[in-house]
Amino acid sequence: MGERHLGLRGDSNKQTWEEADFPIVCTACLGQNKYIRMMKTHFDRACRVCERPYTVFRWRPTARERFRRTEICQVCARSKHVCQCCVNDIETGVPVHERDKHIDLDNKFEAPKDIVNRDFWAQMKAMEVSKEIEKEKKISEDQEKAQKNVKSLEDNK
Ligand SMILES: [Zn+2]
Ligand SMILES: [Zn+2]
Repeated sequence: MGERHLGLRGDSNKQTWEEADFPIVCTACLGQNKYIRMMKTHFDRACRVCERPYTVFRWRPTARERFRRTEICQVCARSKHVCQCCVNDIETGVPVHERDKHIDLDNKFEAPKDIVNRDFWAQMKAMEVSKEIEKEKKISEDQEKAQKNVKSLEDNK
């Protein structure tokens, strides 16, 4: 019986970034306060897109405002480049259905309905996302190195 769970091992990769300390949210949702307290609950709710449990973040933009919380998981947010809270484009704030109307009609923002396909879909997305994160990390490391090189060249002048 226990053996059957081994198939899920591949998920351990995914956990590392899904355990992130900060959600992917746009500045409109986050608010202006730099010192907000971010609260997180592990796998508390299901993502509205893929319906899988994920780490939910809650915060209050200002003391007078109501709590906001994430509605979709980081996989879905990253794969569509949207805010985890309002689900609008993370940079432009354009609603995703508006945005995608113009660019990719084939790439609908939807997870498959049946559970087997959906798990597969989510796993593929998770893999794409972690690859992307790796790539970004590599790029910023390279940039750092390049900067250091420039700096040491300057120091040698
Ligand atoms: Zn999701
Ligand atoms: Zn937002």
